Amino acid sequence: MAVARLLIASNNRGKLREYQMLLDGLPLSLIEPLDLGIDLRVEESGESYEENARMKAVAYADASGLVSLADDSGLEVNALGGEPGVKAARYAGEGATDEQRVGYLLEKLKGVPMECRQAHFVCVIAIARPGTDVELCRGECEGVIALESRGDRGFGYDPVFYLPDLGVTMAELSPAVKNEISHRGKAAREARRVLERMLGEGWI
Ligand code: IMP
Repeated sequence: MAVARLLIASNNRGKLREYQMLLDGLPLSLIEPLDLGIDLRVEESGESYEENARMKAVAYADASGLVSLADDSGLEVNALGGEPGVKAARYAGEGATDEQRVGYLLEKLKGVPMECRQAHFVCVIAIARPGTDVELCRGECEGVIALESRGDRGFGYDPVFYLPDLGVTMAELSPAVKNEISHRGKAAREARRVLERMLGEGWI
């Protein structure tokens, strides 16, 4: 019997690696857009993570004809009134590298003491079936923005996302532990249940 296929609607290598682990064990073959020669640029113009995740998942499901999973994530820093927020990927300008974005964030927080650097990551996963409704799953993770980068694992803002209970940044965690506690890990556990239901109902 052919293995059911799920398109992970992202070109971000860090996210793709995490989804390989997070969805491990499901009877699904995970496909990347480039495996199908699909190279969509979906503008993340929505006002919410939900809106952006939905737009991406629907665009990829329509382009591929496959059930597609997209996520929109962001970092919200209390001392910056919730910035970078839903626009986290474009913080520090279009085309900036992860390192430049982290540098820009640290510069904005210059002089802010550790006790006032609370932040949280948000991840919303959208799962779209071509031509029908979209399912949404949300996860959050609390932390503090460190005074400087530490660790070389993960991606994005991980090197400055300090976890007080563990005494390390997200970039110092093994992939398995990051998935255990992260915003994406939490959303993905809900997404697994949605996918199991879809598989059971024969939608995938
Ligand atoms: P997007 O979901 O690809 O739009 O990501 C928004 C921004 O948040 C990008 O700059 C990502 O690098 C960053 N980001 C998303 N998820 C994570 C994560 O798990 N760790 C660190 N940064 C992340």
